[in-house]
Amino acid sequence: MPRKYLIPQYINVIEDDLIVDIEWIESRCLESMPCQHSVRYITKSGTSHVDRMNGVKIYNLFQKLGKSCPLHFMIYAPKNSEAEKYWIS
Ligand SMILES: [Zn+2]
Repeated sequence: MPRKYLIPQYINVIEDDLIVDIEWIESRCLESMPCQHSVRYITKSGTSHVDRMNGVKIYNLFQKLGKSCPLHFMIYAPKNSEAEKYWIS
């Protein structure tokens, strides 16, 4: 009598498909605060996607991937109160 195995249900396939790299970001800047750009990224499954993302999301994505963030998105970095102590106004 062959044993029956339950077939795992991949319900969150899309959510599970994490972004592993950024291929390019369109230089055209849309909207403002936060601005929006078209981004092409690669996910864990090896597929390439193009999506509109806001600046905050793009900044966070660069942090998560450990890549250096383009200066354009540095305005979305959380404020560092320790560093601000040394600012000259
Ligand atoms: Zn922008």
